[in-house]
Amino acid sequence: LQQRIGFIGLGNMGARMANNLIKAGYDVAVHDVNPSAMKLFSDKGILTKESPYEVTETSDVVITMLPSPKHVLDVYAGPNGLLLGGKQLRPWLFIDSSTIDPQTSRKVSAAVSDCSSKDKKVSMLDAPVSGGVMAAETATLTFMVGGSEEAYLAAKTLFLSMGKNTIYCGSTGTGSAAKICNNLAMGVSMLGVSEAFVLGQSLGIPADTLTKIINSSSARCWSSDTYNPVPGVMDGVPASRNYDGGFSSKLMAKDLNLAAASAKEVGLKCPLTQQAETIFTELCDGGHAMKDFSCVFRHYYSGKDE
Ligand code: NAD
Repeated sequence: LQQRIGFIGLGNMGARMANNLIKAGYDVAVHDVNPSAMKLFSDKGILTKESPYEVTETSDVVITMLPSPKHVLDVYAGPNGLLLGGKQLRPWLFIDSSTIDPQTSRKVSAAVSDCSSKDKKVSMLDAPVSGGVMAAETATLTFMVGGSEEAYLAAKTLFLSMGKNTIYCGSTGTGSAAKICNNLAMGVSMLGVSEAFVLGQSLGIPADTLTKIINSSSARCWSSDTYNPVPGVMDGVPASRNYDGGFSSKLMAKDLNLAAASAKEVGLKCPLTQQAETIFTELCDGGHAMKDFSCVFRHYYSGKDE
């Protein structure tokens, strides 16, 4: 079944994901508030639209890849938003791949469901991704998906045009929940590893020796064996290129803020999440918002500000 796809949010991730849909042969129309992001597509002959609502006029499925919950709410329910057409909407499926909180995913999904009529069901999936910009480029993202299983199965081919793995998580909001839980564990583990290396160095253990020990011991994790934050220990990681590229401190602070807010909403104490949010927010305020989040090793723990 050939479907027409609308894609909104052509940033670091979205532009690459939309390109992979085009490469896979889908007929794609795009929109972004940033005209230069749209020009990259119009220059290639791809249809560009001036508002989310206009995207719905030519699309069967609409995918959004936006920075944060407020942008998602704006694109869906704002003026000229995706849901302006109400029960007359053309799309039958909306997929939001932005990293947002599960509460917002559920709110938007309920508004989408309200556009269903007795003849046509309109569904929404929350489908955030893991993998970063390189994985978006090479179509190797992992999608974690919440919403109806029927809609998930119908959308699987689309996901596999932009990624290599899809995991069905359960009801609406569980994809978003999975993503913010993963990122909170990643943020906290990066802090733990950084703290251990700073203490280790002060106690006289060289970083490369401690890396060998941790990576063959019980503290081994992604932050120690794949994305080590200490400059010079591993090749090809942000720490070895002045913390440029990678996953920004700003996005990490945002995701921890979402996790902390979600915890509060369900009445859970998550002290490590709160502490990690404070540390990454201070890092951003200190001028390192656009550096990779592993720069916490240098700028927070080592206290170096070069
Ligand atoms: P980005 O800031 O590069 O791109 C966001 C795009 O959305 C921009 O082009 C912006 O102009 C556009 N936009 C903002 N408001 C809009 C609106 N109202 N209407 C239309 N377009 C609008 O962000 P990104 O790095 O592509 O990340 C997108 C999402 O993916 C975020 O939620 C992020 O947390 C998540 N994510 C990012 C990474 C990563 O490594 N960058 C990895 C996994 C998940």
